Amino acid sequence: MPAPTLIGHQRIADSLWRMVSEGRLPQTLLFAGQAGVGKTTLARHLAAGINCSIGPGKPCGDCSPCQRILAADLSKQEYRKILADRRKLPAAKRSENPLIVATHPDVLIFPPDGPMRIIGIDQARLLRNQARLSPSEGRRRIFVIKNAERANSEAANALLKTLEEPAPNLTIILTSVNPYLLPATIRSRSIPFYFDALSPAEIEIFLNTREDISDSLRKQVGAWSRGSPGVALSIDVAEFLARRKAMLALVRTALAKGEFVQLASEMDAIARKQAESIDVLAEMLSSLLRDLLRLHLKVKDGLTHRDIATELAQLAGQSTFAWTERAVAALDMLEQLQQTNIQKQIALEAYALSMRK
Ligand SMILES: [Zn+2]
Repeated sequence: MPAPTLIGHQRIADSLWRMVSEGRLPQTLLFAGQAGVGKTTLARHLAAGINCSIGPGKPCGDCSPCQRILAADLSKQEYRKILADRRKLPAAKRSENPLIVATHPDVLIFPPDGPMRIIGIDQARLLRNQARLSPSEGRRRIFVIKNAERANSEAANALLKTLEEPAPNLTIILTSVNPYLLPATIRSRSIPFYFDALSPAEIEIFLNTREDISDSLRKQVGAWSRGSPGVALSIDVAEFLARRKAMLALVRTALAKGEFVQLASEMDAIARKQAESIDVLAEMLSSLLRDLLRLHLKVKDGLTHRDIATELAQLAGQSTFAWTERAVAALDMLEQLQQTNIQKQIALEAYALSMRK
């Protein structure tokens, strides 16, 4: 295996390699940035570099620790299937066997779990117990808590306790799409690193390594991914187009009615009909509205949906900047509502579980 290449985030990677080789890596790191931009990938490279046989420093990619640690790539088909299968399990089954991904005994990844994609108390308890152990074969233990903002309040409290009692030889990496949803007590205990979207040139380099994407589609997928390789990887073109069509129809209806009326229930109905999560639909709607804002501001460069620029320009012509801003605000409200619902759902699951016990 050749030395692993990281695409983008060079400045962050360089400062992390320096901290590792000088032995001054902080106890808790917070990797913040849009979904799929490479936060967990860099966390994995960092974990490999720390425990590399010829390190610590940059990972060689060749030794057994590097190979095992780098193998825990959650975008691989095998992990996607595990995560999808777990969503169908009853809460009690998930709770008996908390979700953790470990391809090396000292590197543990805690992804959100279940249909609501939550970091639950059982995962946080497991993490707390594991935090007491010393490295079993490497130099340090590294725990990656993926999408830490999705920890419910119980899990966040348990996590905070772990952060308050720093174990020697343990580094905790929190990744987050929206770090402001994390409790301030957790945020203040971590050293933040902000991940920018990859540049169009970097995304092109990334997509050129993918033989399963045709040349004609590469530019398109590159724009749709908005600088996130993880998003580019997960785009299913047919699904993407169907989702976009549904969200464009929603925008047209809202324009005809004057406002987004009952956005939550309309999104819910579309989500049920297309068997998609509201999160994914909201993300699409948000990218379309952002393009409309760009068109209102006469910024033609950097359109996500440049393949339908003419159609979007027509929609921009039918709306005003203020209307589009209000639409964005309505969508933000919906996302906050979703977050509250997640907490409610967790409380219900916990209650059902306690009744069963
Ligand atoms: Zn190595």
